[in-house]
Amino acid sequence: MTALEDLSREIILDHYQNPRNHGRLEHPTLANRGHNPLCGDEIELSVTIDDDNISDIAFVGRGCSISQASASMMTETVKGHRLDEAEAVVKSFTSRMADRQPPPPNLEEELDALQGVKKYPARVKCALLPWTTLRETVDLCRHREPAPVDDNVLDCADAP
Ligand code: ZN
Repeated sequence: MTALEDLSREIILDHYQNPRNHGRLEHPTLANRGHNPLCGDEIELSVTIDDDNISDIAFVGRGCSISQASASMMTETVKGHRLDEAEAVVKSFTSRMADRQPPPPNLEEELDALQGVKKYPARVKCALLPWTTLRETVDLCRHREPAPVDDNVLDCADAP
């Protein structure tokens, strides 16, 4: 085992054993589930969105260490960031997982630890599950945008 694999394993194991942002938010803006039938992984995300900002995010789930560690890392990455920033990071993460480039020689970011999973193609879906679930959640949120309130419309009670 190389030092990189060792480090990757350590980071993934740490997130798996001590998941960040683990649990369910009490009053989330949105909750959404993702499922990876290939491995049986499940992720349930709850997010609070204020002014296009992910002010809080939490997950519960079960499944393999890769999927759960990836969920922990994902929540840590996007918490406190804007929805469009979250979308951008989902996009770059998924494209890096999909390409055939070898994992980076140095771990510049913690997330790079997940790149090692590419050596096991069956597990890539595990690593991606939390990210695709987040993308769906953002989409759901966007569609739920309430229409702007028309101040000129009076409630019946206010009518003369
Ligand atoms: Zn899995």
